[in-house]
Order: sequence, then structure tokens, then C-alpha cells
Amino acid sequence: MGLRLVDIGWVAGIIEGEGSFYINRFKYKNGFKNPSITIRVGMTDKDVIDKLEKLTGMGNTVFREIPSHKTMYYWEVGQQKDAAALMMTLYPLMSERRQGKIRECLTAWRSFQYRHLRPCPQGHDTNEFVYYNGERNCKICKKESAARVRWNKKYF
Ligand SMILES: [Zn+2]
Repeated sequence: MGLRLVDIGWVAGIIEGEGSFYINRFKYKNGFKNPSITIRVGMTDKDVIDKLEKLTGMGNTVFREIPSHKTMYYWEVGQQKDAAALMMTLYPLMSERRQGKIRECLTAWRSFQYRHLRPCPQGHDTNEFVYYNGERNCKICKKESAARVRWNKKYF
């Protein structure tokens, strides 16, 4: 982000007033949860929405008609790296309530850093993986196989 300080202030002001930070939680058939975080601002002022996208160089804009014959424009940052980076940048400028929401989002974001990798083939509901001898195991699988090793040693 090549944002100037004055622009960060402007972006923070708009998001404080009109924006939201939220977590989407997708759930796969095997129970693996893969949350994602989003920053969204909805307004009827297209020029403000365009400016948000231009200044940050992030996100994209969608629009829909609302009953009052106006058009609502939504700027959304859904790219995880972008959303997290912008949340961290804005954090010190936001109100307490929004800071709380950002902390919640960033905690979720950190918990799914391995989201680009496939979930545990055994379907365990965890995002924590252990790498050992070139093998990748989820923490639950790892615990189970450690228990099996102990059992084998005891009886064979
Ligand atoms: Zn597993």
C-alpha cells in the first residue's frame, strides 16, 4: 500500500462511518471450516466508493438498485492479504468498537493461514498442521498416530 498518511486518515474516516469488518465462515462437507475476512463499505455516492478503490488499490466495487430508485455501491476487500493488511493499518485510527471487530477478524485470519492447502484427508476439523519428514499431518491425526505407536510398542 503506497497510501499517504492523509489518505489513510480519509479512508479510516469513511470506514468508521459507513464500513464494516466481517468474517464469513464456510463449512465443507468434511466439517473443515475455512473462514474469510472482508472489509465492506456501502454508499450511494459512487465517487466516494471509487476513491476508496483508487487510493487503496484494493478490492472491487459492486452495485445494486435499491427501492428508492437509487443505486447502492459497495466497495469490498475480500483478498485475504489485502483485507488483513488494511485492517492492521487502520486499527489505531478506529473506534474501540471497530478495533474489537478488527481483532476478531485478525484472529480468524491467523487461524486459517493454511487455507490454501487442502484440509485433513481424514476430515478432522482443524486448521493446525504438523510437518515432519516431508509429511503433512493435522494435529489430530498426529496425536492419533502417536497413540498407535505407543500401543504397538507395548504389545509387539
Ligand atoms: Zn487429521
